Amino acid sequence: STPVTYVAALAATAQRGVLVKGGAHLEALGLVKTICFDKTGTLTQGSYALISITPIGDKYTREQMLEFMVLMEERANHPLALAIVDGARLEGVTSANSKKKVDEHKFMAGEGLVGRIDGMQVYVGNTRLFERLGMMESLSEEMENMVYNWEAMAMTVGFMSIEGAGIVCAYCVADAVRNESMEVIDALEKMKIDLYMLTGDNRDAARAIGQMVGMNPESINSELLPEEKLQFITKMKGAQDTGRSVLTNPMGKRDLVCHVGDGVNDAPALAAADVGVAMGVGAALAMETADVTLLDSNLRKLLYSIDMGRRVLWTIK
Ligand code: ADP
Ligand code: MG
Repeated sequence: STPVTYVAALAATAQRGVLVKGGAHLEALGLVKTICFDKTGTLTQGSYALISITPIGDKYTREQMLEFMVLMEERANHPLALAIVDGARLEGVTSANSKKKVDEHKFMAGEGLVGRIDGMQVYVGNTRLFERLGMMESLSEEMENMVYNWEAMAMTVGFMSIEGAGIVCAYCVADAVRNESMEVIDALEKMKIDLYMLTGDNRDAARAIGQMVGMNPESINSELLPEEKLQFITKMKGAQDTGRSVLTNPMGKRDLVCHVGDGVNDAPALAAADVGVAMGVGAALAMETADVTLLDSNLRKLLYSIDMGRRVLWTIK
């Protein structure tokens, strides 16, 4: 009778737009005691809007500065790259009539981009990157305050530097929280599940988003590299880690750890978690790595899946 329960439950979840790669994962969902959420694209919609791009210094005109920015971000696939390219287009700047030559272009996990345009090294990225490059001290106090205010307003902040000119602009992009996030966080807390946020974004933006969705400030973990998300998951799985053995032993009572994410940078954490849950509109790699995919990316489906997992467990007891 057990397989029938699995099949029925899997069919029900499939009908609701939840893709579970096997009955064992459904059961594991029922044993989840800890859930780690990615921020961008998971608790938030993952579609950034460019709020401000503020020139610094006078070596380049605003138009020239935007041209460098577009050439860098056009080749990137982070959701904020799209916002910057779109924002520049609204000001009439596209790469179409650019005569500049991009020779190198590389993504640096957790930091941003480095490239070479017309022979000059160009960096675009966050505070972490520019601190590492030792360029943050060059910012005026006025600019520092502006950046601080942007972050406090939950915005993701970044800079661009051009060789020979230092930092040429500061920008901020904003992302709206999903309309169901707050309700889902509340419901999960009532189910006595421990919740955490794991994000690559800056501390203040992470905290502000956390506050918007009703998460405890102590549960917010920011400025994490993909490996650090993985390490957090491993730590949560605890010393008595039995890996995935519980999946072959349905009656195993170890509390399980779930990670919910949408990005390439979530893949290691999704693989390490007892239950990896991917958002359907996210990166293909996240879905391939995950055990469960919420096809329409609606977080309410996570509640539904956990409930279904608990019911399956109950039935076979
Ligand atoms: P997350 O999905 O949590 O933002 P990532 O590791 O993809 O994590 O990126 C971490 C941070 O690195 C971003 O929040 C952003 O500040 C910076 N970053 C990543 N890609 C870019 C990019 N193309 N341009 C500028 N900054 C970027
Ligand atoms: Mg994400």
